[in-house]
Amino acid sequence: MIEINNLVRKFGNKYALDGVSFTVKKGEIVGFLGPNGAGKSTTMNIITGYLSPSAGTVLVDGIDVFTQPKAVKSKIGFLPEQPPLYVDMTVWEYLSFVFDLKSCTFNKKAHLNEICELVKIADVKKRLIKNLSKGYKQRVGIASAIIGNPEIIIFDEPTVGLDPKQIIEVRNLLRSLGKDHTVILSTHILTEVQAICDRIVIINEGKIIADQKTSQLNQTLGQNNRFRVKIAGPNREVLNLLRGIHSVTRVTQDGVRDGDAFNYIIEYSGAVDIRKMLFTALASRGWPILAMEGVEITLEDLFVKLIDEKGDNQ
Ligand code: ADP
Ligand code: MG
Repeated sequence: MIEINNLVRKFGNKYALDGVSFTVKKGEIVGFLGPNGAGKSTTMNIITGYLSPSAGTVLVDGIDVFTQPKAVKSKIGFLPEQPPLYVDMTVWEYLSFVFDLKSCTFNKKAHLNEICELVKIADVKKRLIKNLSKGYKQRVGIASAIIGNPEIIIFDEPTVGLDPKQIIEVRNLLRSLGKDHTVILSTHILTEVQAICDRIVIINEGKIIADQKTSQLNQTLGQNNRFRVKIAGPNREVLNLLRGIHSVTRVTQDGVRDGDAFNYIIEYSGAVDIRKMLFTALASRGWPILAMEGVEITLEDLFVKLIDEKGDNQ
């Protein structure tokens, strides 16, 4: 449905995109994951015809975005990183403006009301956009993107700047839109794509470094077992003890000291949960565990793992 072939985009002498290729099938929800500056927005702006590439092509249903931008734009609902809202309009005025702009042929009132219900902005229809909270503004952006019921929805970092409750609402909305649309969602948050997407395309420094099913990626990540443990006891001896525990692969300290207690990051391999072993080993020496928590996997950790994996396969 969407074929992205070898996109290159230069800004001055710098390559923002350097040979980006991937495809998206009809009905898929694809996460486009990468750190800030990786090239996500540049890619999305090119796919949607708002920016031209230095080289490469994008085909949507076989139609070239650059030779027939209008035909392609009518198939895509786009939520840019900064949605261009007219803040002096009311929500309803703005949505009807977008409706006209898209030359939509549906019954206007019924269609807009349906969308307002769907994205939960029916109660603010008459409010000026400038008086809305960030979360509501974002929903107005989403509403305008789905006017005309486009087959493809492309959202650029839709949850940035929202509070946790609003993030959950937007994620749920994306999931429900994903049931009958093709969705591409960009984010720099690993857990976000894990929660929503079937497939994850990872971009770094303008290059695609992974393109995997979410389940496959989770398997790669599943091998990451890490805890942060606060232990009261003599630093060196505690370190030696921890490093001696079977299946512990690495112990580091994060430098945080609390009285006679230190924080240790313990990494281990294998399926056995080492928490019980930790407890018995430390208790036998009389060194109490004051706190223990799992360490969330970051995008940086994932990069390290993916690069390791590539090395193993060679
Ligand atoms: P992301 O959305 O992943 O954070 P972007 O696509 O916005 O990344 O940016 C990719 C790279 O291109 C960055 O290094 C950024 O500074 C650069 N870039 C993006 N847009 C412009 C522009 N209009 N002019 C110059 N450099 C740009
Ligand atoms: Mg961006």
